[in-house]
Amino acid sequence: MKERTLSIIKPDGVLRGLIGPVISRLEKEGLKIAAMKMITMTKDQARGFYKVHEGKPFYESVTDFMSSGPCVVMVLEADDVIGRYRKLMGATNFKEAEEGTIRRDFATDIEKNVVHGSDSRENAEYEIGYFFSALEMAEG
Ligand code: ATP
Ligand code: MG
Repeated sequence: MKERTLSIIKPDGVLRGLIGPVISRLEKEGLKIAAMKMITMTKDQARGFYKVHEGKPFYESVTDFMSSGPCVVMVLEADDVIGRYRKLMGATNFKEAEEGTIRRDFATDIEKNVVHGSDSRENAEYEIGYFFSALEMAEG
């Protein structure tokens, strides 16, 4: 069933020249990019984006990191895209990520792990609405 998910190339990925390699993997997997832009979040915007993690020990640090430089945010659209893209990203901790995943191949740190992907339909809807208006979404 067609789904949408929010993908982010995090500030470490942008800084290290990984926009091309990450997008290339999305396209090879057949995940359609329905919207895309580059933004730099303020600390408060990063807090709002990761509000599900408020109170966790890594919350302050990860929101500092996510507001430290430009990110590429994308809406991906495909059948079962939420799970397929999470699989392509690999585990949060790159040391536990499977061979051939984006995090296994590119991440350097449990926090600086190159990419984000929504983990459920409910969170995907919140996260897409956080960054994109309906006007910015490609049709068809
Ligand atoms: P994301 O939501 O970015 O796609 P995820 O769903 O794999 O990643 P979450 O548990 O949602 O992982 O954590 C959100 C982000 O917070 C992680 O991607 C990572 O950048 C950071 N993070 C998570 N756990 C830790 C930790 N133990 N130490 C440091 N940073 C962490
Ligand atoms: Mg998550």
